[in-house]
Amino acid sequence: MLSFSLVTAAYIGSTILFILSLGGLSNPETARRGNWFGVAGMTIAVVATVFGPRVQTFGLPFIIVAMAAGGAIGLYAAKKVQMTQMPELVALMHSLVGLAACAVGFASYIDNSMTFEGTEKSIHEFEIYLGILIGAVTFSGSVIAFGKLSGKIDGKPLLLPARHWINLSGLLVVICAGYLFLHYEGWIAVLALLVMTALALAFGVHMVMAIGGADMPVVVSMLNSYSGWAAAATGFMLSNDLLIVTGALVGSSGAILSYIMCRAMNRGFISVIAGGFGGGTAPAAGGEAPQGEVIAISAQETAELLKEARNVVIIPGYGMAVAQAQHTVYDITQKLRAKGVNVRFAIHPVAGRMPGHMNVLLAEAKVPYDIVLEMDEINDDLPTTDIVMVIGANDIVNPGAQDDPSSPIAGMPVLEAWKAKISIVMKRSMASGYAGVDNPLFYKENNRMLFGDAKKMLEDVLKDIE
Ligand code: NDP
Repeated sequence: MLSFSLVTAAYIGSTILFILSLGGLSNPETARRGNWFGVAGMTIAVVATVFGPRVQTFGLPFIIVAMAAGGAIGLYAAKKVQMTQMPELVALMHSLVGLAACAVGFASYIDNSMTFEGTEKSIHEFEIYLGILIGAVTFSGSVIAFGKLSGKIDGKPLLLPARHWINLSGLLVVICAGYLFLHYEGWIAVLALLVMTALALAFGVHMVMAIGGADMPVVVSMLNSYSGWAAAATGFMLSNDLLIVTGALVGSSGAILSYIMCRAMNRGFISVIAGGFGGGTAPAAGGEAPQGEVIAISAQETAELLKEARNVVIIPGYGMAVAQAQHTVYDITQKLRAKGVNVRFAIHPVAGRMPGHMNVLLAEAKVPYDIVLEMDEINDDLPTTDIVMVIGANDIVNPGAQDDPSSPIAGMPVLEAWKAKISIVMKRSMASGYAGVDNPLFYKENNRMLFGDAKKMLEDVLKDIE
């Protein structure tokens, strides 16, 4: 068994490794190293906790069995999951953090091996109450987010009448129940705790159900932040400093990510935290019907246009992830660059289905980072671009976000593909994207549609370029 001071030293080491890990993950070139720091920090943390003074020897077999089962499920999930299912997996993982916080909260309440008196007792009970509250919201919210991201639950916002009043009265009941929990013993306290848990679960469901299609990225990063605070609350309940620090790191970095996502979607941060946003205009079920005529183009014609161009910008979206076309995209990029064409990539902050989705795919295909640019860095260059190639993207290039105030994605900044001399949109059909709205870009005079699976079409284009 490790001594108390050795465990504290190990925890400090882990904290430093986690901070280095986050620092590393902020840049694609150092991300791999950052990941290793995280793995090392977590290994030290688990070993120090399991063999630390707070675990009694008779508990070890239980812990080892639980870790083996959890580890095996995690390994299986990580090996089996497709890149396109990653966002759902992440949402499911967040739900587990919330569930753990609830379980620890109830266990701490039932556990009478430690007795607290006076202020200490109140603080301990407050920690339990807050931990279960955050944990329950995170749990149910993440389960609904999982359902929405995997398409098991309809992506349309469910806007209950007087939803803000429902939320406000829920909040008041939670405050009253908190007062009863802290000031009474026995069945009144238990009832107050159970009422709050039920309300918190219902609020989590309501909050995420009310989020409309294109606003999901904000809620995903927000749940990421909540899961961090749930872990920090668990740390307080267990008096575990490392869990408090780690939870705070995840909570605050998730909050910063939410803020960045809000800016990307042009949404107010406060309205997101309050929940129940997603626009008054619900997207049409199953997407709107196409409105206009489009001009189709073949892979061969696309290859000819690309060879003649001087400046090409590629805009990848969710469809590139579905088709796993990133390697072929890079093969085409290399061929064109060898012919002297200036090819660059434009990344929208909410392209795909999770923050950084496109960056991960392009990094996997070994696309050099210096030709991968953020929306704000490249939008001004699009009017002087010969060809913009949109690969499986839709909402992020929708001019309706700028021109149509009634659109569910109105106000969301988009990549202005239509400003290029020619835009070529690669997708399988006229189906709408995640937000379920029609895209006026498809009907513009300077736009061409290359219909088909992105990987298959790009392979044809590649053959014709060679
Ligand atoms: P979209 O969902 O708007 O569009 C993707 C397009 O890809 C579809 O229109 C589809 O058309 C096409 N597609 C699908 N499969 C293929 C294939 N095999 N080959 C070619 N095309 C294909 O994606 P965007 O990336 O443009 O926008 C992201 C959307 O997701 C935004 O609305 C965003 O808010 C939302 N979102 C983002 C999250 C994030 O964190 N990034 C999280 C949750 C939601 P077709 O079926 O005709 O082929």
